[in-house]
Amino acid sequence: MSDCIFCAIVAGTAPASVVLDESDVLAFMDIRPFTPGHLLVVPKRHASGLAQLDPEDGAKVFAAGQRIATALRSSALPVDGVNLFLADGVAAGQEVFHVHLHVVPRTARDGFGVRANAQSPTRTVLDGTADAIRSALGSDGA
Ligand code: AMP
Ligand code: ZN
Repeated sequence: MSDCIFCAIVAGTAPASVVLDESDVLAFMDIRPFTPGHLLVVPKRHASGLAQLDPEDGAKVFAAGQRIATALRSSALPVDGVNLFLADGVAAGQEVFHVHLHVVPRTARDGFGVRANAQSPTRTVLDGTADAIRSALGSDGA
């Protein structure tokens, strides 16, 4: 896609600090890192969101993220843990509309975090929500 910054990085027409370059996947440092070592894994084929992403490309993106997460733990960087994070849609915080998996190295006191809900919903509510999602999945969810 011509106006996509990540396509430009894949094409080599925009700068990036590349970590991994495979036939279908590229990983490079995030320019505004949440923590030191925060990087992004993208499919080389443009897909604006998860609905447009070829599942095979998705599998390759995840596999690269998994490999990099393992490498981070044995790297010279301070890494006690890793978060994998993907924003799909504006409401989820997506700003760049070319699918990307955030790989975020974590240390105990880095201040980065996702807040969990303190209270569990009732089982009835959880079952109702599961029903709604199963219906959307169709036979795949059975
Ligand atoms: P998201 O909010 O999930 O869409 O995240 C977009 C991410 O892309 C942000 O963390 C940005 O810092 C990062 N980003 C934007 N432009 C570039 C770029 N040219 N090179 C590297 N990272 C970028
Ligand atoms: Zn793109």
